[in-house]
Amino acid sequence: MRLVCFDDHRLGVLENGTVRDVSHVVDRYRHTPYAMNELIERWDELAGRVEEAAAAAAPLALETVRLGPPVPRPRNLLAAPLNYGEHVSEMVGSRHAPEELRAHHTPRELGFFAKAPGSISGPHQPIALPPVPGRSFHHEVELGVVVGREARALAPQDAPAHVFGYVLVLDITMRVEAEQQEERTMRKSFETFTPMGPCLVTADEVSDPGALGLGLRVNGELRQQANTADLLVGVDELIAAASHVLTLSPGDVYATGTPDGVGPITVGDTVDAWVDSVGSMSLDVIGRDW
Ligand code: MN
Repeated sequence: MRLVCFDDHRLGVLENGTVRDVSHVVDRYRHTPYAMNELIERWDELAGRVEEAAAAAAPLALETVRLGPPVPRPRNLLAAPLNYGEHVSEMVGSRHAPEELRAHHTPRELGFFAKAPGSISGPHQPIALPPVPGRSFHHEVELGVVVGREARALAPQDAPAHVFGYVLVLDITMRVEAEQQEERTMRKSFETFTPMGPCLVTADEVSDPGALGLGLRVNGELRQQANTADLLVGVDELIAAASHVLTLSPGDVYATGTPDGVGPITVGDTVDAWVDSVGSMSLDVIGRDW
């Protein structure tokens, strides 16, 4: 199933280019930004009702609704650094075979960083670059994993049962510079620096999250193209390792890292990004007016 948030915090099912409003299946957080969290947390109980509600709802043409980020309020928004071999090479300038990198790249050593959940934006919002003269802002296309069940101290083999689904995420970044070494969380947390969408795809529709093509174009020019088969630390290990650090909650989002090809975006650009079987977005880049 492809789940969306649209208009005033409504929940919908995306089907054949139409949206079916299923907002009424949740009660506690109906028409609030937390509605999707409730739906995910109560999925075992509500999935059948979502299907019934979608079948009964009038189809809304996609062009007539405004999609928001499908998971607007994750409790935790985590992200993997340097999780593709070729991206390691372009960032640190050294070259190692993927097997060699994997051997020295355990989930614990990779770790994760946090992005502020307030940086999340939806598929209809432009990426707004802040007025920080002289700095470059880079695109990073990533597969996002959405947690489905509370998860603590998982073994990797138990991770899939705790994954709800997948979402396309961009991890927009103000690049670090030698003279300007601001902390990473801030550089990646400007408002609109985590575009997410257009939909949250339930895990049953993705046969193997470790075999998904993903990519990104800027103004039509191909910048990034890779496959999640090249992740140094895979989805199960990422989720399991994080669950040894803190309890993961339904609706938490984990961006799994970006492949090589990161590069600058500037005001006026159009960014097209995709993860196969998950979704695609086309986003304008504007200058922020505050
Ligand atoms: Mn990233």
